[in-house]
Amino acid sequence: MTTAFFSHDDFMRHNMGPEHPESPERLAAIISYLADTGLDQKLDWVRPEEITRDQLLTVHPEKYLHQLDLMQPTRGRVFTAPDTAMMPDTLRAARLAAGANIQAVDMVMSSQVTNAFVCARPPGHHAERAKSMGFCFYNNVALAAMRALTFHHLERVAIIDFDVHQGNGTVDIVSGDERILMCSSFQHPFYPHSHVHRQAENIVNIPIEANCSSEEYRKRVEAGWLKRLNDFKPQLIVISAGFDAHRLDPMAELNLDAEDYRWLTEMIVGVAHEHSNDRIISTLEGGYHLRALAESVNAHLEVLNSVY
Ligand SMILES: [Zn+2]
Repeated sequence: MTTAFFSHDDFMRHNMGPEHPESPERLAAIISYLADTGLDQKLDWVRPEEITRDQLLTVHPEKYLHQLDLMQPTRGRVFTAPDTAMMPDTLRAARLAAGANIQAVDMVMSSQVTNAFVCARPPGHHAERAKSMGFCFYNNVALAAMRALTFHHLERVAIIDFDVHQGNGTVDIVSGDERILMCSSFQHPFYPHSHVHRQAENIVNIPIEANCSSEEYRKRVEAGWLKRLNDFKPQLIVISAGFDAHRLDPMAELNLDAEDYRWLTEMIVGVAHEHSNDRIISTLEGGYHLRALAESVNAHLEVLNSVY
């Protein structure tokens, strides 16, 4: 039993421009660092396939999917939001990223692997049911959760989102769905501003002000999440793993480092061990300082890979 690592060259073909922080170099930096530390040799590398239309329809309406299909250019770039661009290879990459999440759930549920990390782009947690924004097109973690609930007939799935930005898309999709408990931490006030006051019993928000110390962050997250997770008893945990709360990240003002991501992962692994038969799917969201991103993913994967 090991950790599946989902990777595909076509994730790199989606490119929103030379100045855009959500760049193909992010994945290259992660993979090269994993080779330096030797962790790449311990992972079970999987080349994903594209998600099917029917699987996308478990989260996104046909009208929205059709709109995205129509917008994808045959050359150049078009913007679906001020910060989000599509090019000819974008939807191929997005379908592979979402497909990797579906396959990750299937592999973990059938005990082929203990847990899985999807090293993909574009990310997904800002994609709402019918709105592309924040570099996202399809909501990868919501699709993974739906796969577990509808195909594998689980009754309780937890989504944990530690990206520095609130996962407004995931909140939009899962809010009020009692089969899902979403626990998130994020800088506040901050982008995307839209869903932070959306209250629902199954959404646990831990807003964190800019410049908060790592000690204080840990204290608040533990106090806010742990009891809710233990009461909920998730049968599977899906992580929106964004690493942009790192102190070096150019997009935000929190103060975490790779050791904080190790701590977060250890806490989640503990909950999964208690309730979920160790089942965790983790999928890459943000993280824009290349070295900090690579070190943080390496720490995250070291913990996931230590579960046997
Ligand atoms: Zn982010």
